[in-house]
Amino acid sequence: MTSLPSLSKHWDSHLHTPLCGHAQGTPREYAQAALDAGLAGLCFTDHMPMPAWYDAPWRMRLDQLAEYVDTVREVQAEFAGRLEVRLGLEADFHPGTERFVSQVLNAHAWDYVIGSVHYLGAWGFDNPEYVAEYGDRDLGQLYRDYYALVAGAARTGLFDSIGHLDLPKKFGHRDPEQGAALHALDVVAEAGLALDFNTAGWRKPVAEAYPSPGLTRAAAERGIPFVLGSDAHTPGEVGFRFTDALRQIQDAGGRVVTYAGRVRHA
Ligand SMILES: [Zn+2]
Ligand SMILES: [Zn+2]
Repeated sequence: MTSLPSLSKHWDSHLHTPLCGHAQGTPREYAQAALDAGLAGLCFTDHMPMPAWYDAPWRMRLDQLAEYVDTVREVQAEFAGRLEVRLGLEADFHPGTERFVSQVLNAHAWDYVIGSVHYLGAWGFDNPEYVAEYGDRDLGQLYRDYYALVAGAARTGLFDSIGHLDLPKKFGHRDPEQGAALHALDVVAEAGLALDFNTAGWRKPVAEAYPSPGLTRAAAERGIPFVLGSDAHTPGEVGFRFTDALRQIQDAGGRVVTYAGRVRHA
């Protein structure tokens, strides 16, 4: 048996705040939860502002961005010396919005930026309200379209990692093929990005982290590192099942990294 590393060297780098409109608890409560869980630090990555027409109810507005930065800076100061607190964003990749996104990314000194695909055209495919749409789709085509967007996100050069790699499986609709996912991983490796190892999947109907064990191994084989993230939308979810996450990554021969100032750290 190999022993598992303790959580004391690890970070939770996918966390939200109430500014996105669908998370509970104050940022300082998330930080306290990370401290209580024995983590080394956390990086807030709330849903970034996007053009007003895109997914507006599920994210902060552009005029709230400064408040987000100030709030994280306050928590940083309050926990200094006890817990490292970093400032990040979960960005969306949606073709046509790249210029807007790059302007937001240039507006502040972010530590870490996740690039996530949440929409196929106008369909927010991870929204439980629109899950019936899966019944009208060809799953193979759905995943080919999705992974083409993931590869596009990796190629933009805007992001440090890809968020929740195999997200369309959330409600149990698994990829019937493998080729598109593996091709996307080739592009992610080539572009030098990491993957968000996202434990929220263990809280969803699919009951599996993002990425799956098979894709975790395929990523590790390509030298792609992982950034641990709970995708917490409430303080109780901070560090969710990180021991299981570390085991899955270790079994796949993968490694864990963090980002500070948009630079990767072992
Ligand atoms: Zn969210
Ligand atoms: Zn997301």
